[in-house]
Amino acid sequence: MFKTKTKIVGTLSNFRKDKKILKELISEGMDVIRLNFSHMNLDDADVLIKNVKEIRREMNIPLAIMLDTKGPEVRIYGHKEKVKLEKSDIITISSYIKKDLENKISPENLHFYTNLPDLPKLVKIGSRVLLMDGFIEGLVKEIDSEKIHVEILNNGALRPKAHLSIPNLHYDLDFLSEKDIHDITYAVKNDLEYIALSFVQSSDDIFQVKQLIREVDMDANIKLISKIENKFAINNLDEIIRYSDGVMVARGDLGVELPLEEVPIMQKKIIRNCYLSGKPVITATQMLESMIDNRVPTRAEASDVANACYDLTSAVMLSGETAVGNFPALVVRTMERIIRKVEASFDYSAIYHKSRRLMDSRDLTTIISYNAVATATQSQAAAIIVFSTSGYSAQQISKLRPGLPVYTFTPNEKIYNQLALNWGIFPYLIEEEIDFEDMLSHALKICEDENLLKKDDMVVIVAGLPLGAKGRTNMIRVETIGKSSIAGRAVCKGSATGQIVHIRDENDLKTKDLTGKVIVLQTFKQQYTNYLRYINGIVMEGSEFESSLQILGMAYNIPILLDAFANLSSIKEGVLVEINSKKQLVIEI
Ligand code: PEP
Repeated sequence: MFKTKTKIVGTLSNFRKDKKILKELISEGMDVIRLNFSHMNLDDADVLIKNVKEIRREMNIPLAIMLDTKGPEVRIYGHKEKVKLEKSDIITISSYIKKDLENKISPENLHFYTNLPDLPKLVKIGSRVLLMDGFIEGLVKEIDSEKIHVEILNNGALRPKAHLSIPNLHYDLDFLSEKDIHDITYAVKNDLEYIALSFVQSSDDIFQVKQLIREVDMDANIKLISKIENKFAINNLDEIIRYSDGVMVARGDLGVELPLEEVPIMQKKIIRNCYLSGKPVITATQMLESMIDNRVPTRAEASDVANACYDLTSAVMLSGETAVGNFPALVVRTMERIIRKVEASFDYSAIYHKSRRLMDSRDLTTIISYNAVATATQSQAAAIIVFSTSGYSAQQISKLRPGLPVYTFTPNEKIYNQLALNWGIFPYLIEEEIDFEDMLSHALKICEDENLLKKDDMVVIVAGLPLGAKGRTNMIRVETIGKSSIAGRAVCKGSATGQIVHIRDENDLKTKDLTGKVIVLQTFKQQYTNYLRYINGIVMEGSEFESSLQILGMAYNIPILLDAFANLSSIKEGVLVEINSKKQLVIEI
């Protein structure tokens, strides 16, 4: 069964590291695996990454691994067990920025610490304080020189190291904590495909990470997904999209940092801006949340996934649903079913007509990509086949959200796995060959073997020639699948085209029009020599008179294919063929 065009990102955890469950999740349709390094220890991550890398090779499928950083998060510390808070409780919070914070235990109940410096100077009486992603809300009642006192507004159990958020506050924390520097280095050294950066606020944050990556490995190819999760990121959205490789609508934190009613509007804006700039966008958090405990999602959740697809998000993400939920495989299957149904109802022709405005570019790859999609859409081709060295041309085609599959062939394993995130792109790994025709035959064979294409299907091919040059997409070609070809043995160099004429005896030579034709012989006779000046080529089942034919072929400059491995009488008279001596084939054209 064909995969969906909208991709699925699934979050894994130390509970999901054995190969059996990983294989199940991948078989159900997971394209990208997210490791949330806010909650993951390195030993578990090592095992998970090793297992995922082994499985994707065994299953022969593209799959990207994404490390999600902890980011400059503000959390609450001081307790090792859950603490029950009740409405009207007063809790005390003080700043503590020393290294032993993670292990520091509060001397009194309801006294907590935070890694945010100078807390008393940052808040006012009446400021809102949100704990545990907003599930527990409080108001600042009193401010001392060292601490603040907060009245709790609703009951709730406060988890150790829970999030603390003070809406609209610009936190004075370094973007890269020691942990993030360590984790980003880990991602580069483990050759992962993506890093999702938590709490990006501006392009400066992205530049810092790029610099760090260069310091770890000058040649690293690891893509950066910026998570949009507060007002500052929203204000700098365009520059963040420009300097990132993709973006995540991190609705969990966004819904804490912004008033909840603004989240759907921001979600649409972020998806649209990414779509317009051709960058992948992931819609994340609570998409099928109720399936952590239940076998079916709520109707609202099903609609949430569907609406993100209608907005043309590149991917939808599962968090707790796959990381800790009770039905991880079922939840991926459910998400896949929703996406499949929605995609079947897309008005691709309307999307294609709208995509014209994305063409406002002088970039040759963009122009060629648009024209490939136009050719394929208008000619009702079965697929687009892209040869992509850097992944850029595949991304430019994905940007146009074409209704037909885009089979992307690349010799680069990293790009192959990275493209698993891109909307509508189905990557295949192919051996690099010097000759483009060889590479194309190989790719078409994969498509036929995998039942992606069938005889007479038309395909639009996009490539950059010569092969291997990055960012040089310069070719569109149209081919029809399964036009018969017959293998043989070329005894003269060169290629020629012409219509087939069957010659049984000399009478055929006298009566049939031979000019510019490819003649099919059962055997060769000396008296045929006089007619060779008219014809374009010879195909023969046997190899009698091979040396004479070789000399004649050179004299008359015509290609000759002997030992044709097929029933030649099955080729109809009049069919146009090419004799290709290099490939040793007669190909119907
Ligand atoms: C989010 O906030 O929605 C998100 C995806 O980030 P995290 O899971 O790291 O909180």
